Amino acid sequence: MIDLKKVSITDLKGVGDSRKEALNELGIESVYDLITYFPFRYDDYRLTDLQEAEHEEKVTVQGVLFSEPSVRWFGKKKSKMTVRLDIEGVAISASWFNQAYLKSKMQQGQTIVVSGKWDRHKLHITVDRTFMSPQEQQTQVGRLEPVYSISSRVKMNYLRKLIHEAFMQYKDEIVEVLPGYICEQYRLRPRAQAMYDLHFPQDQKHLYQARRRMIYEELLLYELKIMWLKKINRTEYQGLSHTFSRTQLDEFIQKLTFPLTGAQQRVVEEILTDLQSPTQMNRLLQGDVGSGKTVVAGIALYANFLSGYQGAMMVPTEILADQHYASLCALLEPYGLQIVKLTGNMKVKEKREVLGKIQMGMADIIVGTHALIQEKVIYRQLGLVITDEQHRFGVKQRAQLREKGELPDVLFMTATPIPRTLAITVFGEMDVSTIDEMPAGREPIDTYWVKKDMWSRIVSFIAKECEKGRQAYVICPLIEESEKLDLQNAHDVFEQLTTSLAPIRVGLLHGRMTAIEKEEVMGCFEQNEVQVLVSTTVVEVGVNVPNATVMVIYDADRFGLAQLHQLRGRVGRGGGTSTCVLVADPKSESGNERMRVMTETTDGFEISRRDLEFRGPGDFLGVQQSGLPQFKVADLTRDFKILEIARTDASTIVADDRFSESKEMKRLWEYLHAENLIEKNFD
Ligand code: ADP
Ligand code: MG
Repeated sequence: MIDLKKVSITDLKGVGDSRKEALNELGIESVYDLITYFPFRYDDYRLTDLQEAEHEEKVTVQGVLFSEPSVRWFGKKKSKMTVRLDIEGVAISASWFNQAYLKSKMQQGQTIVVSGKWDRHKLHITVDRTFMSPQEQQTQVGRLEPVYSISSRVKMNYLRKLIHEAFMQYKDEIVEVLPGYICEQYRLRPRAQAMYDLHFPQDQKHLYQARRRMIYEELLLYELKIMWLKKINRTEYQGLSHTFSRTQLDEFIQKLTFPLTGAQQRVVEEILTDLQSPTQMNRLLQGDVGSGKTVVAGIALYANFLSGYQGAMMVPTEILADQHYASLCALLEPYGLQIVKLTGNMKVKEKREVLGKIQMGMADIIVGTHALIQEKVIYRQLGLVITDEQHRFGVKQRAQLREKGELPDVLFMTATPIPRTLAITVFGEMDVSTIDEMPAGREPIDTYWVKKDMWSRIVSFIAKECEKGRQAYVICPLIEESEKLDLQNAHDVFEQLTTSLAPIRVGLLHGRMTAIEKEEVMGCFEQNEVQVLVSTTVVEVGVNVPNATVMVIYDADRFGLAQLHQLRGRVGRGGGTSTCVLVADPKSESGNERMRVMTETTDGFEISRRDLEFRGPGDFLGVQQSGLPQFKVADLTRDFKILEIARTDASTIVADDRFSESKEMKRLWEYLHAENLIEKNFD
């Protein structure tokens, strides 16, 4: 058998250096690339019954020319040509724009096939595709024609022919990868056939079957890879086994200012079990905003410390680093832990000092941004790495993190619950813990969406709430591209509120302020010396002022759903029913839709599901480096049922001890080898 991935396209007739280059630009290098370069759509050139065609529908008909083509010119370049056609005894007219050159090819009495838009009232077709010769009609009409993404150097027809050619030459080399029993069980077309049909389907039914087969294959192979990784992680990866005094840890938990929720207790146990076991922890901790992940992270870091290791917490932004640094200090410093912060914007000298502390083992916990995975950081006994908002870190960065130190245990935290289908695809090699319960004392939040012209009513509402002793956030978006303007907005809103709300005190907080200024404003707000906090997004995560019961979000349509949900999570933390007011005049339908979703639900999982629907998986996870596999046929938003089936099948296969030996599984096994997974992980 030849490996088609190793056969260059230059082995095909007529493909020389320049063609090769042009194809390479499309990502096609091997014959395998070519035959798996699937169409993104099909044009339907099957003959239509005009009796049944709807007005303005696209139709394809065969007819006999029974008039001389008449051409009218509009200037030198534009023309309209009209003919009359006899279609099974019915006379219709057809016209072409700017294709007068066809006239010389047409003769009365000739049979032609045309495709275009049908005008039912005028019995007229505006033609966009013509099949003149009997040969063209025979090979192209009646088919679903594949449409590929092409370039100026690779034309559609050429690509079609070349792909066809590749199949003629190499069809027998396309090997079946799926075990026979699976093909039988789901009645799947053989691989070579399905691949061919995806390019050149006889009809919709063939296309459907081909697709079904390829989607299943793609997803099964993917899941197999993930399951295998997971199995290897479990059984082969020698991680650290943490040993710590459970009594000491329990004492720490006892002394927290609140009892853990049931869900927190459960995930803490899951994490501690991972820490103690000799396999490397690779766990995703998900929980809605405010569900109390930070304290769980704190407990894990403390257990790690008690076992004699350094711990690191990596976050995507400097602000988050500040916040986590502050909460971890408050939580752990009383127990004698040294906590340091490492971020990209630190002064060289300061950074050097911190790096020194880390290397010497004088830092027990390091909180920081991406700076944490830069090469120059030398850890001493790194035992646990926690990342917050993990989906903002790409797969590569996640892997980099895991490779630091002596296989530290890794915990990924996210406040954006990831819909199950995505979670099992992107983070499928991980174990998942979910905090599905809010701490007691969470209050309901009423959400309203109002237009900007209601602003004065909102101001009086804020005033009324403050008179009752409550506090309010007013958030103004700050988007990088228009930072200056946005900052001005925040200033304007601040000044306006200061005037109209007096003597109620208003504070302003934004990212351009120095750390000390920020702390001061936050401090005043926490102490209720300031009642209204106007802020750019800095309060997005981490701030906790239970007395704040009003969240006003200005220009709310400029935020994504996940962000809005996070912001809203800042209220409803005690002090009675809270209110979230979205102030927005959305300019787009998607903006309207986001506002609607926010008023309809406060359930983070539901919101995240809707978010995924709006944005699609790539965007949802932050396109690049999202870790989202590039599927050729499968589509995760559409094919999740097949995904679940493939996942179950993959897990059965991987659990089977005979997997590596069974003849029927040979190809699947080889696939894992080809992906370098097996060698790489047994090294
Ligand atoms: P998130 O999951 O969004 O990171 P945090 O860890 O910031 O949530 O917790 C939100 C707030 O809830 C914090 O002020 C924290 O102290 C508090 N909290 C966490 N767990 C509990 C609990 N079990 N009971 C009461 N309050 C809690
Ligand atoms: Mg948090």
